[in-house]
Amino acid sequence: MIASLAAIAVIVVMVFKNQHESDVAHMRVQGVNLVRTLSAVPYDQLTPGGEQQGAMQVLRHSASHHDFAYISVVDMNGRAANEIAADGVIVPASVMSMEPAAWLGEKQLTLEAGGREVIEFHAPLLDSADLVGFVRLGYFYPEFGLGVKQLPFLASMALAVFLLVPLFYVLIRMEVRPIRNANLEIRRMMEGDGFRRLEVAATGELGDFMRRFNRFAQEAHDRIEALEEDQRRLVTSSKLLTYRKSRVETVLETLPEAVLILDESGAITFANQKLAALFNVPREAILAQPAQQWCDNSDVLQLLMKHQTSGNARSLSDTIRFKVDLSAQREVATKTYPLFSPKNPSQTIGTLIVFKDETQEALARQARTDFVGHLAHELKSPLNVLALYSESLLADAGNDREFRIEAANAIAVEVDRLSSLTTGLLSMTQIETGSLTPERSLVRLIDVASAAFEGAQLSAMSSSMAFEFEAPKEMSPVYVDKDLIRIAIDNLLSNAVKYNQDEGAVQLTISETDDAIQIRVADTGIGISQEDEARIFEKFYRSSDSKVQGIGGHGLGLALTKQIIELHHGTLSVNRDREVGVEFIVNLWKESTTMKQAI
Ligand code: ADP
Repeated sequence: MIASLAAIAVIVVMVFKNQHESDVAHMRVQGVNLVRTLSAVPYDQLTPGGEQQGAMQVLRHSASHHDFAYISVVDMNGRAANEIAADGVIVPASVMSMEPAAWLGEKQLTLEAGGREVIEFHAPLLDSADLVGFVRLGYFYPEFGLGVKQLPFLASMALAVFLLVPLFYVLIRMEVRPIRNANLEIRRMMEGDGFRRLEVAATGELGDFMRRFNRFAQEAHDRIEALEEDQRRLVTSSKLLTYRKSRVETVLETLPEAVLILDESGAITFANQKLAALFNVPREAILAQPAQQWCDNSDVLQLLMKHQTSGNARSLSDTIRFKVDLSAQREVATKTYPLFSPKNPSQTIGTLIVFKDETQEALARQARTDFVGHLAHELKSPLNVLALYSESLLADAGNDREFRIEAANAIAVEVDRLSSLTTGLLSMTQIETGSLTPERSLVRLIDVASAAFEGAQLSAMSSSMAFEFEAPKEMSPVYVDKDLIRIAIDNLLSNAVKYNQDEGAVQLTISETDDAIQIRVADTGIGISQEDEARIFEKFYRSSDSKVQGIGGHGLGLALTKQIIELHHGTLSVNRDREVGVEFIVNLWKESTTMKQAI
């Protein structure tokens, strides 16, 4: 519709333009002809009162022309001798040129009244070849507008255009319909309706296009389906890989050892949390930063470098031992294992480095060595004494009765020491290996304690030590191995005597609480320093204090006592918070409490 209106507008404008140009041309021809004709008429006849009035007839006829503005006959001075003007028109004044070349001609003027444009044609009036005046003929300049006479033409044009436009429109729509339908279907496909063939009836080039398009779309569809299938397979296998990877990682995380995995190029691809804890760095730092940044151990760095540079090192299983932190004495050993490709077992795909914390093993090794050293030492001194006396007895000194008595006493003391050492060691070993089963029975602890107390008193008979035993008259029995408990109380009492002063005091107190029977052994002896307190329950530990060193002992008594009490699920502690001496406190749970705890 817009196109048709535009076409009509263009046609109308062209018609008007053409009409206007032809009007102007026609007017010129008419104007020039008329002034020439009038120029040939004698001057007299054109002025009022002349003999012939035929020219005036012509003038009047001209005045009826719709474009006629005026006609004027002027004398040599330009004064109007005769003039006819259309209604409302005042003939404009005009100075006529006397030059013969300008006598005949035309010019464009603007009327004062109304401001309309006028084309004036002028021609000379001659009398016997003398110029006597001019005739001036003015026509309105044709206006650019719609004339009535153009209306039928315009109407027929508009009708034709209005009829043709819908016709063209219908034809174009018919031609374009297959493309529109195809477009609609393609849009539906794109909006997710899924692929289907374009079933659009079309012939000729469009038909060809549809067939080619369908073939292209089918191929694209097949390709997309194949890609989607590939993607599904990829997603499944990536899920499987992720699952396997996380399973392997879980296993590696669960291992008690710190683990590091390097790829073929020696780059770190995995480190478990224990490795991060071993080097005291975040795991991300191990994976992201060069080894120099998180590890300051030259042996480990060397090991890692080796895997980054040479290929043959990977087939070897390296073991290095190093101390992580010298102050903590932590000892770590690395084992390197090449990782072989499952598909091609001769090809390595990386390296597994296991960092095993061997601190406990090292400590145990050290403890074993210390133990054997101590034992050898403890056995050696009594054996030396025995050897010395036996040699002397065999020699001349053996004849001396006094010496024999002294030797017999000394041998008895050393044998006693050896026997108590071996008994203590045996009991301790049995407890540690779990081969000693306590023979529990309901025991009146007062009886066991008082027997031990009497023994201690007897052993200190030579000194003037004061002994005190305090116990309630009646108390609940406890379910214990009475022989082992006797050994424990004996040890505590003998220490209280051993590390006491000659005129000191030993106090044994038994008391009963709701849950436990408590045995307290207190003395007024040399006491225990704070640093010794932490170690007195260790096997073979003896204070380095000169007073202690001057007193005999193996450093096994308290270790054994603690083991015996713990075997009975009791507790043994030391109380140094006294003016003089120390107090050892044993808590043995009453049977009812043990039952309750078990429940
Ligand atoms: P031993 O008495 O044979 O040396 P123990 O295991 O009985 O071994 O005691 C370990 C250490 O504990 C002793 O060497 C001593 O330093 C300290 N100790 C034990 N009991 C006492 C005590 N009553 N007073 C002071 N020191 C004690």
